[in-house]
Amino acid sequence: MDIFFLGTGAGMPAKLRNVTAIALKLLEERGAVWLFDAGEATQHQILHTSIKPRRIEKIFITHLHGDHIYGLPGLLSSRSFQGGDTEVTVYGPKGIKEFIHVSLSLSQTYLKYPLSVIEISEGIIFEDDQFSVEARLLDHGIPSYGYRVVEKDRPGTLLADKLIEAGVQPGPIFKKIKNGEAITLDDGSIIEPHHFLGPEQKGRIVTILGDTRFCENAILLAKNADLLVHEATFSKGEEKLASDYFHSTTHQAAEIAREAGCKQLCLTHISSRYDRNDWKELVDEAKEIFPNTDISEDFKEINIPLN
Ligand code: ZN
Repeated sequence: MDIFFLGTGAGMPAKLRNVTAIALKLLEERGAVWLFDAGEATQHQILHTSIKPRRIEKIFITHLHGDHIYGLPGLLSSRSFQGGDTEVTVYGPKGIKEFIHVSLSLSQTYLKYPLSVIEISEGIIFEDDQFSVEARLLDHGIPSYGYRVVEKDRPGTLLADKLIEAGVQPGPIFKKIKNGEAITLDDGSIIEPHHFLGPEQKGRIVTILGDTRFCENAILLAKNADLLVHEATFSKGEEKLASDYFHSTTHQAAEIAREAGCKQLCLTHISSRYDRNDWKELVDEAKEIFPNTDISEDFKEINIPLN
């Protein structure tokens, strides 16, 4: 599981930072990539990476500001040209359906794969046996969502050799034990599953937030996250400016990470008023409050290790 930053700037494209798009690479977990926002030229950024558009399974849009969605129609269209034939689901605030429909229909774009677009409200917006995704509203002037991706715990691997030693023959019974069922053998002895399973694999939590001021829902979404991706459009001391434009400062992002008990914080959505020489300072500001902080850059990847 890795986070790959395709675009990390604020408002409009700049030479060093394109507008927002973040890929959550779940290649080992489900052979898929989930995208969070698709600012203009997201598909151009993808061309410089190993990401295959046909692998994109889900796209989560945080909010409808142009720097987060103008790349969506082009990306969806090219995915079709490139032979993508599996379904894509787009999640986003009310209005995302109309935006996609109008863009694709006026340009007479026909996709060769099924596309479903879900206008979300707060709560669990997706769940299967591997992952759940929760959405909550942030504070950004227009509806802006944050997403909490929770990987489910996986039961430990079955210790087959140990079972055979204990006199259990391979077969459907193995599956029962793997599922945590206690088994009574013909001789009356009882097989307790926890003796025959390796350690449970704890799931990971990744929280990716849309643009926002400091708010309570950000803390709730980021609770105990392995990685929090939080905007830091402005440096510390610019709280007034950040508040006026419904954004956050480095300090505010770090405070959220600290309050929520996150393991790691990565700052993104960095204003172009800060150039390369300023980035270290931005990180250092956040580190005053939350030491394990990093700053995103276009094409930077962060691995989220197993616990
Ligand atoms: Zn915005």
